Amino acid sequence: MKVSIIPERCIACGLCQTYSPVFDYDDDGIIKFDSSENLQKTFSDDPNILQAVKECPTKALLLD
Ligand code: SF4
Repeated sequence: MKVSIIPERCIACGLCQTYSPVFDYDDDGIIKFDSSENLQKTFSDDPNILQAVKECPTKALLLD
């Protein structure tokens, strides 16, 4: 599954990393992937990542 992040929408709440460590933050607490500067990344199916996408309050995480 492909996950996209939209940093402009992120309010630095820190919720997504409580579901999965694939989500990391820059110095201002804004979303980035832990191992990549890209805004889109492909993962194996993972219910924790799916939950993070679902729970993000500003829809800064999207499934493609
Ligand atoms: S849950 Fe959404 S708003 Fe909160 S830190 Fe993650 S991407 Fe940003």
